[in-house]
Amino acid sequence: MPKKMIAAVLDSPGEGNVLSLREVGIADPSPMEVLVRLLMTGVCRSDIHLLRGLWSHPLPVILGHEGCGIIEKVGMGVAESRVGEKVVLTFAPNCGTCRFCVAGRNVLCEAAARAAAQGTLFDGTTRFSADGKPVYHLALTSTFCEYTVVPHNGAITVPAQTPPEQACLLGCGVMTGLGAVLNTAQVRPGESVAVFGCGGVGLSVIQASRLSNALPIVAVDAQVSKEAAARQFGATHFVHAAGSDPVQAVREITDGGADYTFEAAGLIDTAEMAYRATRRAGTTVLIGQPAENAKAGFPLYGIAQDEQRIVGSSYGSARPLVDFPKILRLVEHGRLDLSHLISHIWPLARINEAIATVETGTVNRMVLRIADR
Ligand SMILES: [Zn+2]
Ligand SMILES: [Zn+2]
Repeated sequence: MPKKMIAAVLDSPGEGNVLSLREVGIADPSPMEVLVRLLMTGVCRSDIHLLRGLWSHPLPVILGHEGCGIIEKVGMGVAESRVGEKVVLTFAPNCGTCRFCVAGRNVLCEAAARAAAQGTLFDGTTRFSADGKPVYHLALTSTFCEYTVVPHNGAITVPAQTPPEQACLLGCGVMTGLGAVLNTAQVRPGESVAVFGCGGVGLSVIQASRLSNALPIVAVDAQVSKEAAARQFGATHFVHAAGSDPVQAVREITDGGADYTFEAAGLIDTAEMAYRATRRAGTTVLIGQPAENAKAGFPLYGIAQDEQRIVGSSYGSARPLVDFPKILRLVEHGRLDLSHLISHIWPLARINEAIATVETGTVNRMVLRIADR
């Protein structure tokens, strides 16, 4: 059991700031927690929002929330037999007793939200430290490091043969995109879909729309270079967001507006565009993660007259214990492609370069290798 490890720490957010790779202390897991040795982690836009100061968080903090690793040690109350299991981390562990958990909405767990806001685990304390002071957890996960401690039900067991670079993506991007279509919107065969933003989340929305037999599936992105990937994952049409009138283009392709539009860029403009590209009585699903204080403008009269629905989807309305095995079964049988979502696998040591590359908007998913096995 290590007492020290290397972690990428965020000390002070801002434009041009970087994470600092350095030694951080890590404590044993407390009761009902597990210590995980990390193998792979994905880099998500939300990590970058924190680095750039769009979201506030207690500091210093170890970022990263898409992780796959091996359970190395268990706290009291957790079966010793879990040691050695390959797991995917989830930032929606389930306290099991709040009203949302009881209702099966564990993305909205009140205890998890409280812990995440204060940068701790469920008991209000951290397992990371430096110079006798706490180093905070991100969303009960923290994966830009060699080891992490998470609640036992924040580590979902996956088959030993699952490639860790694919498995880690279930932790956020893939679950968020697939779940928005399959859980939140529940798109049915023949319904039309338009997706704004073709990063890891948007491409997962496209794949899930194909699984649902949606038609047409229109991908919209500001980078023309995203067209190939969008089509590969199931888009039937591609619209360049910087073109003359992308909303009009979507409305034409979908014969008056899509039954479902998905906003997966986290921007005010694209949220408004997605709404305008939705047909009467259609549903606009907001997935993207905007700045904390972002506000969009929607026409009240039109929403009422046209019976429009604007719904939020957080983490694909995930129930990780139910959804992760389902997703992995689809992957195993070739119905879902996670391997081509990964455009880069770099070592953790290159994390700052990796973040800069993700910020160019040209990456599908950036994965960082922490250990080989
Ligand atoms: Zn994320
Ligand atoms: Zn709960």
